[in-house]
Amino acid sequence: MKKILVIGEIKDQELRNVSFEVITAARKAANGGEVVSVLLGNECEEMAGQLFDHGADRVVIVDHPDLNRYTTDAYKQALLQVIEKEEPNGIMMGHTSIGKDLAPRVATKLDSGLISDVIAIEEEDEELVYTTPIYSGKAFEKRTFEDDFIFITIRPNNFELPEVDNSRSGEVIKYDAEIKDIRTIIKNVAKKASEGVDLSEAKVVVAGGRGLKDADGFNSLYELADLLGAAVGASRGACDADFCDYSLQIGQTGKVVTPDLYIAVGISGAIQHLAGMSNSKVIIAINKDPEADIFGVADYGIVGDLFEIIPILIEELKELNL
Ligand code: FAD
Repeated sequence: MKKILVIGEIKDQELRNVSFEVITAARKAANGGEVVSVLLGNECEEMAGQLFDHGADRVVIVDHPDLNRYTTDAYKQALLQVIEKEEPNGIMMGHTSIGKDLAPRVATKLDSGLISDVIAIEEEDEELVYTTPIYSGKAFEKRTFEDDFIFITIRPNNFELPEVDNSRSGEVIKYDAEIKDIRTIIKNVAKKASEGVDLSEAKVVVAGGRGLKDADGFNSLYELADLLGAAVGASRGACDADFCDYSLQIGQTGKVVTPDLYIAVGISGAIQHLAGMSNSKVIIAINKDPEADIFGVADYGIVGDLFEIIPILIEELKELNL
């Protein structure tokens, strides 16, 4: 039986879904032991209830003004102090911008191993085996820890959300943390206008490529995405051509997404693009070239002119009135 600490990630004063997915992952590794959610933030106590609803056994909170926004120094210090007090057998967090920055630094301080970007945990020969994609998602590697201590980051959208049980509750423990010597300070956050659903956590993604011809063509995707409750993404080709903002880019040098449904519109399927989306559960590709590489990873393919197909899809979806 293990005690696993899982990090609750807060964005805009709300818990991100990955905070709950990590509880599912931890349950597998805890082997009947304790799953403790850790909240590092400022005025975040009221979020504890949601963590219990999603299966946390206990919630540990460090509430400190310096944890209001993520900084490497403040979060690292606070988490290390929690680890010292809790003495867990493992730590898990999302493979998000924060997780990618924080986990290796904490692992180094603990002198522990780290397996990042885990998409599955299985038991083989009474040993937990962690699967991570390698070579831009073209192959998978299975790894284990040599000693008993586990430290992993999990890819968002790969572990089921735990079943919600509003009747659950548990102990909330507040720790003080001594935070000093913060070497980088956030002066200001300039937010881009919201584009609706958060791309990295979206269940449905409609992504456009250079086939959309221009920014106007790209705009038709927003209507389709609205009807599907989807987030809009893009290939680098579309971003480079200025059809949309780089924050939408999916791929090796963009975001990695694993939605339930990915619709690729006018995207050729370059290896660098596939690196960001090929683990999506269902992929639909729309392309006029039947030889396009995107069809190699697609579950369903529509060969044809997207400027004819998208309006038909929009009309049909409007009729369905989902
Ligand atoms: P294209 O390759 O030009 O494909 C356009 C597609 O649209 C074609 O298949 C065409 O048949 C189709 N089409 C055209 N008109 C229509 C129509 N009317 N109806 C239907 N289909 C139509 N790319 C990424 O996406 N993400 C990354 O993170 C990324 N990182 C990179 C990193 C490096 C180091 C390098 C070298 C490249 C990277 N790239 C990345 C670029 C990548 O190699 C491709 O150039 C890019 O993905 C191509 O974008 P695209 O598919 O939109 O454009």
